[in-house]
Amino acid sequence: MRIFAQMAMVMNLDKCIGCHTCSVTCKQTWTNRDGVEYAWFNNVETKPGIGYPKAWEDQERWKGGWALDSSGKLRLVSGGRIRRLTGIFANPDLPSIDDYYEPVTYDFDTLLTQPVGKGMPVARPLSALTGKPTSITWGPNWEDDLAGAGTTATQDPNMKRLAAKAKMEFEKSFMFYLPRICEHCLNPACMSACPSGAIYKRERDGIVLVDQDKCRGWRMCVTGCPYKKIYINHATGLAEKCTFCYPRIEAGLPTVCGETCVGRLRYIGLILYDLDAVEAATLVADHELLEAQRQVFLDPFSPEVIKAAQAQSIPPEWIEAAQRSPVWALAMKHKVALPLHPEYRTLPMVWYIPPLSPVLDVTAEVGGDPVLPDDIFHAVTSLRIPLDYLAELLTAGDTDQVAGVLMKLAAMRAHMRTRTLNAETDHDMLARVGASAEELEDLYRLLGIAKMADRYVIPPAHTEDAAMLNAWTSGCSLSDASGVGPGGVGYPRAASGPVPVELRRRK
Ligand code: SF4
Ligand code: SF4
Repeated sequence: MRIFAQMAMVMNLDKCIGCHTCSVTCKQTWTNRDGVEYAWFNNVETKPGIGYPKAWEDQERWKGGWALDSSGKLRLVSGGRIRRLTGIFANPDLPSIDDYYEPVTYDFDTLLTQPVGKGMPVARPLSALTGKPTSITWGPNWEDDLAGAGTTATQDPNMKRLAAKAKMEFEKSFMFYLPRICEHCLNPACMSACPSGAIYKRERDGIVLVDQDKCRGWRMCVTGCPYKKIYINHATGLAEKCTFCYPRIEAGLPTVCGETCVGRLRYIGLILYDLDAVEAATLVADHELLEAQRQVFLDPFSPEVIKAAQAQSIPPEWIEAAQRSPVWALAMKHKVALPLHPEYRTLPMVWYIPPLSPVLDVTAEVGGDPVLPDDIFHAVTSLRIPLDYLAELLTAGDTDQVAGVLMKLAAMRAHMRTRTLNAETDHDMLARVGASAEELEDLYRLLGIAKMADRYVIPPAHTEDAAMLNAWTSGCSLSDASGVGPGGVGYPRAASGPVPVELRRRK
């Protein structure tokens, strides 16, 4: 058992109000520069919708992530090393700027310098790329609140398997917001796709970064990432991505998106995991992927895990932080958080609590009472439209897993309501979701009234860990000499290593 710590995030989709504050503060911090005008390390999409870049979930088109080949081995969807190398100068599987959007500014000079006249001066949009007048036909928030959903949302890859009737009626029944950042995967396809070995996963906290000095701008990482969360800086020609705000994390502070989230829906914490179990978790059938990834995570309260972690130089306060981790509590203790598209097999580490609100909307629409558990449970199990969609997004199509989470969330609300109004406990309802009153109250504290100190449990980095924070690898945990990655086995236990220069513009 090789124990590693991973900094991870959970987002509660019921609480996102789609204000985009997270996107704007992230942009101001990380991509407010020439060359990355079009890049949003954090973006918020309305679902159903094709998102940003367009239809990023359509891996038949973009060839991102991993898949099992006919012999059951894991292969990059973008192909083996030879195929990728032959495509270095003409990679057909890259989103174009039109798939992201053409960034614009406005002709503010006209507003400021226009002489007094009869008409109102107009600031026309100018392309931020060419400086020439342009017309705005698409953007990262084009589908906000289902705007234009009639033309785009039916092309949402998650809608593919929904019945035709559901496709026609989704506008009436549900929508929700999906904030997205890099998943800082345990098995990052971006890293294995990179021919230069420029992408590395930090040994101490699992944050995935790009070494700007090693990147050669081949763009294979953009194709490899199924979440399309790597961007090319058009000024430097080099890859950039979400850094999980590592300088803040090292100081014990939450990411900028987390700190500024208006809905207080983000949770950040450590997960201990067994590196030796990662490979097996990627090789199971789609419907087993969620449970397989849970098996990779280690119980931070287990005496055996604590002993092994201490023996492997994990600092005591990191073990203690893993025990207090809200990510552990939501993903493993209460099992209400689920991974985004586990079928990409990258073992993503930003998980989501599915939104109950679409089901509540539908409950009310068919005459049910959205505060009565029986009506909600009936809606969860019988009104398939939102459930099927959420399952496509979070469980590789397993509706039972999503239904189980939604019923637990509904039971939590109902339990807190009856306890507050009548000082009673509905034991039948608790039995139906397999949770005790104490568990639901603990979940309520975490989801409803948690303070910042409960939502962000981040142990500061140790100075003596500098080498591990900077330790880099040119391979992923699954790489070997003949394997899918560019070489190198596992995250190295390097005592020292080249110091990466993250996101620095090449001179
Ligand atoms: S989500 Fe992040 S870590 Fe995972 S493959 Fe994409 S860029 Fe790499
Ligand atoms: S700041 Fe929070 S509530 Fe607002 S869009 Fe971002 S994730 Fe949603």
